[in-house]
Amino acid sequence: MEIGLIGLPQVGKTTLFNLLTGASYPTGILGETKVHTGSAPVPDARVDFLAALYRPQKVTYARVNFKDIPGVDLRGGEKGAAVRFFEEVRGADALCCVVRAFTAAGVPTYFDALLPLREFQELYAEILLADIMLVERRLERIRSGKKVSKQAAAEVALLERCLAALNEERPLTEVTRTPEEEALFAGYGFLSLKPLLLAVNVDEDGLKGGYPQQEALLRYATERGIPVVEVAARIEAEIAELPPEDRVEFLDNLGLQEPGIARLARAAYRALGLISFFTVGEDEVKAWTVREGTVAKRAAGKVHSDIERGFIRAEVFAFDDLRQLGSPAKLREAGLLRLEGKDYVVRDGDVIHFRFKV
Ligand code: GDP
Repeated sequence: MEIGLIGLPQVGKTTLFNLLTGASYPTGILGETKVHTGSAPVPDARVDFLAALYRPQKVTYARVNFKDIPGVDLRGGEKGAAVRFFEEVRGADALCCVVRAFTAAGVPTYFDALLPLREFQELYAEILLADIMLVERRLERIRSGKKVSKQAAAEVALLERCLAALNEERPLTEVTRTPEEEALFAGYGFLSLKPLLLAVNVDEDGLKGGYPQQEALLRYATERGIPVVEVAARIEAEIAELPPEDRVEFLDNLGLQEPGIARLARAAYRALGLISFFTVGEDEVKAWTVREGTVAKRAAGKVHSDIERGFIRAEVFAFDDLRQLGSPAKLREAGLLRLEGKDYVVRDGDVIHFRFKV
């Protein structure tokens, strides 16, 4: 599962990618064509709480994979670059649009002024357009066939509904579909079906006093159910260079409780439909990643294939109950420690101990 960072050139994608993943790829390269991949820890206050309680030797956070996709100039530019761009985008499981809301002399802007909303609208329009082209190509292929089977007729009806939605600038997530149609849908690789989030790269002034089009941008995203994370990539990169003990003070000065990339990593994790369960002990406190809807036996397999094979029961309690009551013993007294079977659907924040036979 991978989230693709997309956006126009020079909006700070690589800067953000480096911050998230701890990489150090060169930034500010015009005409960059390299795709970078890496993973970022997902900061989680629940893991910190468990670590303080169990004092383990090792603490392991969940991680989320990112792909830094070079931006293309949407006003024409090189056609091959655009094709490559959309190929990479198609391969991502979710998308994070990065838009520019920082001023910097020497970094060329796409428009004459800072217009993050317009930037996002252009990108969004490209995503919808790519899907329109896909639908039209498919329709053409079916219609040029000699005999139209019943199945093809059903597909045409579905594609026409898709086209209508896209032409109204609505993403394909809004097209209702039956389970059979869902299977068809999965095969197309539509872009507007991918979960989307928006990262606004701001400067210090923007962080403190807002930036051009902020209100309109936030409204536009909210109306479409798109989560927004404002992050000051450049300043955060500078802060990340400081010794850990100095970082809090600098963040504090900016009015931040934690770095924007922490929020971005969490938002990406959620956008991918991922949740965490925890295992705890003196040796390690660890966040494990599963998709929403994963059952206990499968989750056990994440920890070890032997545990999945020999699965007997999962001892489960909810992190929130532990935080409220303060200790596992009190949870037991309160009857909040549950024994669950192999088909139990794991919830975000479950603390699990698997019982298994070897
Ligand atoms: P990309 O083309 O979208 O990957 O953008 P880069 O990450 O390569 O950044 C483009 C240029 O903008 C680089 O020179 C960065 O140092 C600069 N930059 C990125 N983010 C910020 C920011 O928040 N503030 C300022 N002042 N400059 C930034």
